[in-house]
Amino acid sequence: MLPVRVRFAPSPTGPFHIGGARSALFNWLFARHHGGKFIVRIEDTDQGRSTLESEENILAALKWLGMDWDEGIQVGGPNGPYRQTERLDIYRQYIEQLLQNGHAYRCYCTEEELAEEREALLRRGEMPRYLGRCRNLSPEECSRMESGGRLPVLRFRVPGDKVINIKDIVRGGVSFECSGIGDFIILKSDGMPTYNFAVVVDDHLMSISHVIRAEEHLPNTPRQVLIYEALGWAPPEFAHVSLILGKDRSKMSKRHGATAIEQYRDKGYLPEALDNFLALLGWSPGGEKEILSMEELKQQFSLEKVAKSPAVFDVDKLNWLNGYYIRQSPIKRITDLAISYLENAGYVSSPLSQERYEWVKMVVDSVREYLVCIEEITDHVDFFFVNEVNIEGDEAKDIINGDQAPAILMATQKKLAAYDELNHDCVKDILKEVGKELGVKRKQIFMTIRVALTGSTHGPDLSQVMVILGKDKVISRLGRALQRFPGMSSFVKEEV
Ligand code: GLU
Repeated sequence: MLPVRVRFAPSPTGPFHIGGARSALFNWLFARHHGGKFIVRIEDTDQGRSTLESEENILAALKWLGMDWDEGIQVGGPNGPYRQTERLDIYRQYIEQLLQNGHAYRCYCTEEELAEEREALLRRGEMPRYLGRCRNLSPEECSRMESGGRLPVLRFRVPGDKVINIKDIVRGGVSFECSGIGDFIILKSDGMPTYNFAVVVDDHLMSISHVIRAEEHLPNTPRQVLIYEALGWAPPEFAHVSLILGKDRSKMSKRHGATAIEQYRDKGYLPEALDNFLALLGWSPGGEKEILSMEELKQQFSLEKVAKSPAVFDVDKLNWLNGYYIRQSPIKRITDLAISYLENAGYVSSPLSQERYEWVKMVVDSVREYLVCIEEITDHVDFFFVNEVNIEGDEAKDIINGDQAPAILMATQKKLAAYDELNHDCVKDILKEVGKELGVKRKQIFMTIRVALTGSTHGPDLSQVMVILGKDKVISRLGRALQRFPGMSSFVKEEV
């Protein structure tokens, strides 16, 4: 096999979608698996739709996902520039070559003429394509057109009787009849090359060995192969990766969940979860193992195991993976990520003192097992940050208004007061002793205290909650719960 050189060549015309990220990842894994090179090139010839902002978003997302590149935009390399609009001089000489050897010609058809032709073909039930009206214009006819103010585009002369056979690593042999293709534009009237032309020149000059991209580019491939042949170049190997469908088997769209990588990043998905998930969209190492680190993916990735059938985007699987990685990560990392969400919710403000940071870390640790993504942290921790808890829901209200509640609250308060500081062991002992003393079941003790402290019947481990809140807050919350009972008041307050 040739030295592996693959590229990711995004058009910066909008958000970086799941599909684009999957193509990038397959290229990256393939390069890293083979010790080859990964190149990033910006295909911005659609100037009306390309923006620098989108380019920056895509590059930032690639880095965030852990895909580094050896050559390309931002990092440079021997085959630059790596932004197509900066390569116009390079394209010019190959355009000239195609014109000289008759593979390209000038076309002066107007939009209206082309639309008429398209409609006529459609009416006849034929594939809309350019029928070659300007194919054989003489130099004099060309000059006449130009002096009449018409600007030409350049079209590639597609041989009508040819069949292009493509050996695709994923899809096997695929054949295209040239008769269905029609002469296509390679240079627009403003001097900008089209995708199909620029991609060939760039892939050749950058010595790309394998083109790994989405299946939607398969119909472009015969056009590109024709250009390779016309320029006397050998095409690279092709691997067209299947579409991504939603769970309902329709094309992946916003209905199936967020489609842009940055939406996932903003919600607090971890890059390794997305990488793991993206890698499994159409590829599988075989076997049952689904949790794979980037290192394992690199070791195991092969194009031969990329499936021909469409991949199904299952957001539940992504959520499961993300939850797994959140639980596996060092708590400091999760805390650092969580702080921005807590800050947005008004729970903390940066910079945090060391002491406050350590406390927030305990809060994060107490709830991280419930998180699908880090953004969700704010749904679980409000009771840690508020002064007064709201007791919501009938179940919680019934518990806190129960006959035994005042005795449980009081006895717990009393025992807590004897300690300077709370730790897991003493809290467990206290709750056990209260149960014994009152002859009440453990569950009832726990529920009553939980509702008094958090306002809810569920949440993190109770002893953890008590340790994090600390003795003073726990005592005062139990006291506040006691105030619900006329005639009862807090043991501690009475004493003070
Ligand atoms: N610029 C094209 C895209 O973003 C790349 C296609 C290719 O990889 O050849 O779809």
